Amino acid sequence: MGKVLIIGAGGVGTVVAHKVAQNPDVFTEITLASRTKSKCDAIAAAVGGNKIKTVQVDADCVPELTALLKAEKPEIVINVALPYQDLTIMDACLGCGVHYLDTANYEPQEEAKFEYKWQWAYRDKFKKAGLTAILGCGFDPGVTGVYTAYAAKHHFYEIQYLDIVDCNAGDHGKAFATNFNPEINIREVTQKGKYWENGQWIYTEPHEIHKGLNYPNIGVKESYLIYHEELESLTKNFPTLKRARFWMTFGQEYLTHLRVIQNIGMARIDPVMYNGVEIVPIRFLKAVLPDPGSLGENYTGETSIGCRIRGIKDGKERTYYVYNNCSHEAAYKETGAQAVSYTTGVPAMIGAMMFLKGEWRKPGVYNVEEFDPDPFMKQLNKQGLPWHELFDVDLEL
Ligand code: NDP
Repeated sequence: MGKVLIIGAGGVGTVVAHKVAQNPDVFTEITLASRTKSKCDAIAAAVGGNKIKTVQVDADCVPELTALLKAEKPEIVINVALPYQDLTIMDACLGCGVHYLDTANYEPQEEAKFEYKWQWAYRDKFKKAGLTAILGCGFDPGVTGVYTAYAAKHHFYEIQYLDIVDCNAGDHGKAFATNFNPEINIREVTQKGKYWENGQWIYTEPHEIHKGLNYPNIGVKESYLIYHEELESLTKNFPTLKRARFWMTFGQEYLTHLRVIQNIGMARIDPVMYNGVEIVPIRFLKAVLPDPGSLGENYTGETSIGCRIRGIKDGKERTYYVYNNCSHEAAYKETGAQAVSYTTGVPAMIGAMMFLKGEWRKPGVYNVEEFDPDPFMKQLNKQGLPWHELFDVDLEL
């Protein structure tokens, strides 16, 4: 059906490459490009069968990207580099008539601020060019938006309360490591908490609100209210929501390390001088922390991510919980990456598949919940992320 260009060869890129290669009826040709070509080559070798062509690119540089897109002529780019590259890649796609998909919203390097405003500003340009941009198509954001759209379409007259719950009950055996890019991860989890209630954002101190939540097949885990980017688009696209929150589990050991990292200034994103050289502490930290892509081998346990929704159906209140559990070991066996990369990479592949099959194709810039959730939900079951539903249960929230 079409040629795909994957940009980014980290943990998520590894999974996207494997899953795209597993669906040759949809993805007829595959190119994998990233800053470090040797990483692309290692992934292509792991997939095998000469299925993937590899190329070096600096995705901060629009002319380089433009040359790459002109040479490769893909139908769609799957951007799984870092959020900093979203706008340069969107610009190159616009210039070359290529469709676009990513898994994380743009944020400027010098400010840890997650907002869709920069990418939503491209809506008219993509519309005029007849190009589709699909934003935030990982698990969260991504599947959580599709789950919400599916719930609103099939199970509710009106959705009113949404709690996205993200549990990683895995153990990678390291004292401290992040499950995806450390810089992006630490910037995300150390910011102030924020949730939507009665038409406005309520701010909290980092990790101020927390409670034990019971996760299927896992048990009770302390869960912390944090801000997560899909809350911005979901509260816009589902205006009946009276409240929308995001909860993530953290272990005590992780939080202690995080507190120390912050207190000693290693989470700083502004440059400091060291021996006459400018360094950004959080970037230096990334260089000494375990590579998230290397965590898979001894990772045990599973993740559980879902949406807990309360609203109205047939004049009565109803609750609904839809979720997926993903085993780190099974993800590693299949792709060589742990479940956090797996749960991000599989939906990115499915989003591109939805586009190539014509199910999610409309000129403009859209978040996943603005498309029909049904064909995507079907593919989740086929492609390794089966979901389960519980009705009228105690949501604990
Ligand atoms: P990694 O850090 O493991 O990989 C990022 C890759 O992007 C690396 O291969 C890196 O190259 C490459 N890259 C970085 N800068 C450039 C550049 N300027 N030009 C070309 N390539 C570049 O990250 P992950 O794989 O863990 O995460 C990938 C993305 O997925 C991130 O944006 C993250 O926020 C997102 N994500 C989304 C989730 C969701 O559920 N929606 C969950 C988890 C992650 P190099 O190897 O040279 O450093």
